[in-house]
Amino acid sequence: MTTAAAGSPRTYQVRTYGCQMNVHDSERISGLLEQAGYVRAAEADEQPDVVVFNTCAVRENADNRLYGNLGHLRPVKDKHPGMQIAVGGCLAQKDRGEIVRKAPWVDVVFGTHNIGSLPVLLERARHNTAAEVEILESLDVFPSTLPTRRESTYAGWVSISVGCNNTCTFCIVPSLRGKEKDRRPGDILSEVRALVDEGVLEVTLLGQNVNSYGVEFGDRYAFGKLLRACGDIDGLERVRFTSPHPKDFTDDVIAAMAETPNVCHSLHMPLQSGSDDVLRAMRRSYRSERYLGIIEKVRAAMPDAAITTDIIVGFPGETEADFERTLDVVREARFSSAFTFQYSKRPGTPAATMDGQLPKQVVHERYERLIATVEEITWAENRKLVGETVEVLVAVGEGRKDERTGRLSGRARDGRLVHFDAGSLAGQIRPGDIVHTTVTYAAPHHLNADGEPLAHRRTRAGDAAEAGRAPRTPGVLLGLPTIGAPAAVPAPSGGCAAH
Ligand code: SF4
Repeated sequence: MTTAAAGSPRTYQVRTYGCQMNVHDSERISGLLEQAGYVRAAEADEQPDVVVFNTCAVRENADNRLYGNLGHLRPVKDKHPGMQIAVGGCLAQKDRGEIVRKAPWVDVVFGTHNIGSLPVLLERARHNTAAEVEILESLDVFPSTLPTRRESTYAGWVSISVGCNNTCTFCIVPSLRGKEKDRRPGDILSEVRALVDEGVLEVTLLGQNVNSYGVEFGDRYAFGKLLRACGDIDGLERVRFTSPHPKDFTDDVIAAMAETPNVCHSLHMPLQSGSDDVLRAMRRSYRSERYLGIIEKVRAAMPDAAITTDIIVGFPGETEADFERTLDVVREARFSSAFTFQYSKRPGTPAATMDGQLPKQVVHERYERLIATVEEITWAENRKLVGETVEVLVAVGEGRKDERTGRLSGRARDGRLVHFDAGSLAGQIRPGDIVHTTVTYAAPHHLNADGEPLAHRRTRAGDAAEAGRAPRTPGVLLGLPTIGAPAAVPAPSGGCAAH
């Protein structure tokens, strides 16, 4: 059904914007299209038969950028009869029919709740030669039940929940992705096992707020239990998760992290602001004291833990004193890395219409000071690792400098980026393999290890990478959750400067 006029399979390309959740949704979009008979277009192919934009609504001017990109594609489409353009993701959920009004050459608009309909919508649009716009208000199928074309042989994302029950005033997620919907533990673990069976070594459990996982089926300790259950999966070497929420973070999760050997000692804990007044205005119900209390407990249980965070600077009403408080918390928490954002209005969020919007230059000046403080801390934290041995899961081309320097890259167990010299093992180490090496130099954002590696372990993920095989997880797993009855909800989004 997807064959082009010439009889060859139709090709597709997915262009992804935004957070990790969108990246994972794009893996599902690819999986669905391939199941429907499409083949991925070659990198250099400037005229794929189908181009899918998986959009993000959280960045300023996201819509201008989308319409700009759609504009560029118009002449390409005019020269390539049969080409189709689809727009999905958060911006599609938000703008809906507006997209085909502004860009009538778009063929399909689909929302965050109905990714699974994409192949049918493309087919219908072709058949009817008319645009198809389908946006659902709630989830019809849990996204993880859709076939997935994984991008990595060694690491995989697994959704545990979608949506969010919080109402942070800077965040568009609740209105676009809806209320939290939890996936059953058995289904999550089946998907993790399926990935491990394909050779995957590292799994990241994904949810807008992983700490509230279980809220739907009435078990507030469900997340800690899930981490421990991951510990029983043979062959699973690294378990990570994103993102927790300080409001719902419970001690049992710290215990589960500390006591489950394959759970990595890395924690991404969004702070957003160190000022209690700003947190209140953001409608974030924890305060800086609670935040620092959690960090203290995490460090007591796991002295080697690397803690990372998200910080927004220049939120409406933020005073110099509020900002100084954020710097204090940064110094006290000793983050190993921080994603820092200059506040900018996001249409549709309560904060966009708040009084006290700050001039851009004030926001920028604070931002520069924040970065300087963050880098001072992260550099000092990284320097503590010089001389230490780290276990690196080798990545595909992380760090563009690698080619120039002849180094390979990967992530240590605590999530730090490590560039290392392969020494006499050059040519033998594949993405997905495990290397032990000694840190010789620290920078604010990465570590270098320039001596001969101490050990190299070939893995099944490395074999798969060498053979050019990416894991695929089928759409239907044992005990597949059917999301139906209650007003379900959405697909995720993460690094939306959110949480
Ligand atoms: S920032 Fe995170 S926790 Fe807050 S509403 Fe958005 S998704 Fe939910």
